[in-house]
Amino acid sequence: MTRVRALLGAAVLLAAPLTLAAQQSCPSPKSIVGGLAQPKAAVRYLADESLQGRLAGSPGERCAGDYLAAEFRRLGLKPAGDSGSYFQKLPLASVVNPHGPGGTGRNVVGILPGSSENGVVVVVGAHYDHLGLGPFGSLVPDDVGVVHHGADDNASGVAALLDVAARLSKGPRPGASVVFVAFTGEEEGLLGSRYYAAHPATSLQQTRAMVNMDMVGRLGAGALLVYGTDTADEWKAILAVDNPDSLQLKEIGDGYGASDHTSFYEKDVPVLHFFTNVHADYHKPSDTWDKIDYAGLDRVAAMVGRVVRSAATLSQPLTLRRGAGKPEKEGAAATPGYGAYLGTIPDFSPVEKGVKLSGVRAGSPAEKAGLKPGDVLIAFDDVEIKDLQGMTDGLRARKPGDSVRITALRDGQPVTVTAVLGKR
Ligand SMILES: [Zn+2]
Repeated sequence: MTRVRALLGAAVLLAAPLTLAAQQSCPSPKSIVGGLAQPKAAVRYLADESLQGRLAGSPGERCAGDYLAAEFRRLGLKPAGDSGSYFQKLPLASVVNPHGPGGTGRNVVGILPGSSENGVVVVVGAHYDHLGLGPFGSLVPDDVGVVHHGADDNASGVAALLDVAARLSKGPRPGASVVFVAFTGEEEGLLGSRYYAAHPATSLQQTRAMVNMDMVGRLGAGALLVYGTDTADEWKAILAVDNPDSLQLKEIGDGYGASDHTSFYEKDVPVLHFFTNVHADYHKPSDTWDKIDYAGLDRVAAMVGRVVRSAATLSQPLTLRRGAGKPEKEGAAATPGYGAYLGTIPDFSPVEKGVKLSGVRAGSPAEKAGLKPGDVLIAFDDVEIKDLQGMTDGLRARKPGDSVRITALRDGQPVTVTAVLGKR
């Protein structure tokens, strides 16, 4: 997921040092996963220290891609990348993040052919890149050079992708083919999925739907969030039927969001995004494989498999609804230099309202004003802040140099401080 970038303020953008040299061979999956079965094995391998956080274009990303191509082959998916391979190469240099990794990344693409040969497909996707060693996108940007394991974000979604492929390759084939894509460059601004949408393996006009899994490893006792339910008339009925396990669903209509489905909805493809919500380890090195709810991951994959099968079995196309939700302004969420800078680092543990801080940056306006880790920000100039989005909007509405009176709860008691906002 990329959404939080809006809140990061002036990230120090450094090229991440990498110890896994380009020429070096990849760590063998067997040596890392031992006797683990899928989908746990995939999370364990992808989130291993040795893959260095899978920054797009890095040797760790290359090893992750090799691993996924081998899994696609084992599952019997047909290669659908460049010149008969599973890999679709793409340039990573980006206007969204000009300081992000350059060079070339790879989407991994495989097809499970349907029973009819009418060219209709359903795309199932999950991004496999993550933040590498930071600091770009990291919520602990001061810990430079620490591996961001990205187990939930998004080894979990990729493991579920493999699981969905395994489920669909058994049993009767649906009419439509299913295209499985593990995207790269999501964390730099949906680079892999935008590239795929511009260079699809099969025509986008014939792409009936795109189903995205990004962060599905922390279900626990919580709800499964499903975005995009207003992007086609049929989604709600499909979700109701394909939930025999009675997962608690939270349906949200928007087709535009902070992940790869956006790249498809922008091109008039109905979308869904499955998501088990953010948590305190989000975009931190502590997002590790041992914290994944594997039983929950299995339940999510089972449901997604059923939804994909339904979409691929319908005799009619889904009925697209345009304009579900607001498109984010191009690059606005990701571009440093936009809006005023406070220098807070949000924590994602749930709070009733407001934004809880896991830290404040050294020398930032937030630190100078006396904000502390653990504070829950609840108002700017007496206007209530409900959540992260509210705080982002509050900063966007102000300019560098503005003073803002910030009300926070500290150990449950309101405190008020004044911060002079800085420049990103
Ligand atoms: Zn992310």
